[in-house]
Amino acid sequence: MSNMSEIFGSNVFGDSVMQQRLPKETYKALQRTIKDGRSLDPNVATVVANAMKDWAIEKGATHYTHWFQPLSGLSAEKHDSFITPISDGKVIMEFSGKELIQGEPDASSFPSGGLRATFEARGYTAWDPTSYAFIKDGVLCIPTAFCSYGGEALDKKTPLLRSMQAINKQALRVLKLFGNTDAKSVKTTVGPEQEYFLIDEDVYNKRKDLIYTGRTLFGAKPPKGQELEDHYFGIIKPRVQAFMNDLNEELWKLGILAKTEHNEVAPAQHELAPVFTTTNIAADHNQLTMEIMQKVAKKHHMVCLLHEKPFAGVNGSGKHNNWSVSTDTGVNLLNPGDTPYENAQFLLFLCAVIKAVDEYQDMLRVSVASAGNDHRLGANEAPPAVVSMFLGTELTEVLEAIEKDIPYGSKEKELLKIGVHTLPRFPKDSTDRNRTSPFAFTGNKFEFRMLGSSSSVSCTNVVLNTAVAEELKQFADTLEKADDFEEALHELIKKTITDHKRIIFNGNGYDDAWIAEAEKRGLLNLRTTPDCLPYSVSDKNIKLFTDHKVYSETEMRARYEILSESYCKTLNIEALTMIDMAKKDYLPAVSKYSHELSDTIIAKAACGDIDSTYEKELLAKISKLNTAAYKKVQKLEEATLKAKEIDDTTELSMFYKDSVFAAMSKLRITVDELETMVPAASWPYPSYGDMLFSVK
Ligand code: ADP
Ligand code: MG
Repeated sequence: MSNMSEIFGSNVFGDSVMQQRLPKETYKALQRTIKDGRSLDPNVATVVANAMKDWAIEKGATHYTHWFQPLSGLSAEKHDSFITPISDGKVIMEFSGKELIQGEPDASSFPSGGLRATFEARGYTAWDPTSYAFIKDGVLCIPTAFCSYGGEALDKKTPLLRSMQAINKQALRVLKLFGNTDAKSVKTTVGPEQEYFLIDEDVYNKRKDLIYTGRTLFGAKPPKGQELEDHYFGIIKPRVQAFMNDLNEELWKLGILAKTEHNEVAPAQHELAPVFTTTNIAADHNQLTMEIMQKVAKKHHMVCLLHEKPFAGVNGSGKHNNWSVSTDTGVNLLNPGDTPYENAQFLLFLCAVIKAVDEYQDMLRVSVASAGNDHRLGANEAPPAVVSMFLGTELTEVLEAIEKDIPYGSKEKELLKIGVHTLPRFPKDSTDRNRTSPFAFTGNKFEFRMLGSSSSVSCTNVVLNTAVAEELKQFADTLEKADDFEEALHELIKKTITDHKRIIFNGNGYDDAWIAEAEKRGLLNLRTTPDCLPYSVSDKNIKLFTDHKVYSETEMRARYEILSESYCKTLNIEALTMIDMAKKDYLPAVSKYSHELSDTIIAKAACGDIDSTYEKELLAKISKLNTAAYKKVQKLEEATLKAKEIDDTTELSMFYKDSVFAAMSKLRITVDELETMVPAASWPYPSYGDMLFSVK
């Protein structure tokens, strides 16, 4: 592999390139925009655009694009050439400040949830100067926000940037109360760990369900699955290693610091973790990572599956959103620190997170909702659909001591006084042991583990940032008025723990007893997407996001429509794919094999009554099952037709969940049972074993 320091960020118009190529004044002005969020002078933009273009052309780029994240969950780009015609049929390479700052892609086919009538196709993209431009496949990509003519957000970046502003504002107020005036800005940071599957492309190309839906809709369990857990952190196969090396290099070129990679629990499953960075950049990087993973896999004749549950009965893939809050002076506000002062500040920020997670557990659940993730949450490998928090025993004991005014620790007889006493150190390994909690404190950050592998991290971080901003706002409102700051702080922390400790759970989140206990505590258990989506437009949640100017009510209702619609569409495609596979492939294959069996039976009888018990019994069994499968296909067809008669989105998603999905599951059981009886040679699709062990 080439020298990492040479390739790292080589395709990024990053800080060092800017320093080299921009006039000093321009560089400084741009830095003010990037660091302090000041608005950008159009003249500065012109100079930046020109330097960007020259740099991109030297790197072989001929086109540019405003790169953005529409609500469909992918990323979008429309390429424009730098070429501008001048007189005499000649051309020059041009890129103006205006073209850098604003674009106008045809927005008519991106989902808008009714925000933009289709005939009003105009949508605008606006440059996000805090996320560096980069070159991908010979195209200069400019990270942008995407909104409608009326200014409503049509993407995932706009609300994310707004939520970062919200938490910045409130966190600075709180810091000021602690006498901290050095910090000019507070930003949240994210390091998303990404899980994925790799399978051979030959096997993939033979599975209609993987091609159309990203997951297997049929398939009997293989004799060997993941029960031995021998794949976890196991030796990486040479083909996978070659892929990982290539992937790292491609990511490094884009300035994405992919750091750790290992095998996961399921066969063919792997994980990649980057070094954390500012949230909006981390979100851009994660979108890029998913895209590059798929491209590099293709180059190695493999397919990278990002679906949350490509294989039933085998662990699915998630994404862990490691999240923290830091000042521009480099202080991690979720780090307990060493002094009583740092401890007090830490405890207040911790309380803000506890209160936020408790009060907005519904929105956190909504932020990870998708048809794919419904298969994962509450299964074996992922946290349940109930949101709870893990703090570890040490920290929980500290909180208890504060709440109940009881002495903390064995040596000290004194009561724990905030701002006076020092907290003990919380060793990282004592906080990192619980892998079953949806929301775990891991020493100096929180790890939210409910995200599905294919989802954008934006939605979750919009919720986290805004909910924590709200709690910090309430805290600042109280503390700013207090006569005795330390006394008021102590009381505030105490009250928060008393009111919100129900969300703290340090036990095994995979245990059924916990679900019962959680329900007793009044925590929400929103099992599926249709169950949780209506919460996204509750009065409480609309108030939160509109108060902090993160979403308008119209934007929230639009998002609700889009999420519901996407759930229904996903299930509809899956149902139609199952019907197609059953009618065209599975049922005929079983029928054909029945014919072979009956031929054998006839031949044996013709040879003088040779015993054909095996063939006869098998024939009877598979014929019966095939008829049952046929009936179930008809039931599924009826359900999909009935769905067409329902207009209301909420009702429709419930129907898909209760009727269509139920019919799909029934059909699968029968076909999977047939798979165990019919010889591989007569079976129309590669088996689970063929797929999971396809990469040698
Ligand atoms: P592990 O979870 O394997 O023990 P780490 O805790 O070191 O590993 O890191 C897991 C992920 O958390 C990495 O992507 C890392 O960059 C990220 N991370 C570490 N510190 C922070 C932070 N302050 N803010 C956000 N993410 C962080
Ligand atoms: Mg982790």
